Amino acid sequence: MIFMKNINTEYYCPRCQSRDVIDYGDYIHCLNCELDFNKELIGQIDDEDILSRQELGGFTKAFEDDFERPKKRKKPLE
Ligand SMILES: [Zn+2]
Repeated sequence: MIFMKNINTEYYCPRCQSRDVIDYGDYIHCLNCELDFNKELIGQIDDEDILSRQELGGFTKAFEDDFERPKKRKKPLE
């Protein structure tokens, strides 16, 4: 898998409007905020409503933890 790092992108950071972003294909990384934004969200919803991948990931992680916790619980030996 080759990731093309392209500084000269038409995208800009929806959070700080900076054009110092790296184009990773599916998402952009803002060098100012150090946040990643999914391209599919950009232009679809208002810039201020776009959540970074870090913020979205936090929600997903918490969600997964809730589901994983019961599985990790050891059954008492009978
Ligand atoms: Zn930014």
